[in-house]
Amino acid sequence: MTDMENRQSESSCEICEGPVFTTCVGCGEAVCQACARFELIGSGCGSVWAVYYCQACAMDPDMNPNAILREPEELEAAEKRLERFGFSAS
Ligand SMILES: [Zn+2]
Ligand SMILES: [Zn+2]
Repeated sequence: MTDMENRQSESSCEICEGPVFTTCVGCGEAVCQACARFELIGSGCGSVWAVYYCQACAMDPDMNPNAILREPEELEAAEKRLERFGFSAS
């Protein structure tokens, strides 16, 4: 009954069991850096939120408003937006 044992089930990525990087804002599951999907969500008043989804929620329009916009053009635009807001694309 140690704290370590207690935490074991929550301290690994839900997808690949790698080290947890963040939690999905859609479903709340823990994801590692490799499985987390970065998205910028517009708030409608000129600001954006940087959020992370798991792979399933990133593709789910109910969870991710950007899921239906997944066209190559949009991805490029998103990268440009990233640069504008000072995020490094590399
Ligand atoms: Zn993972
Ligand atoms: Zn999720």
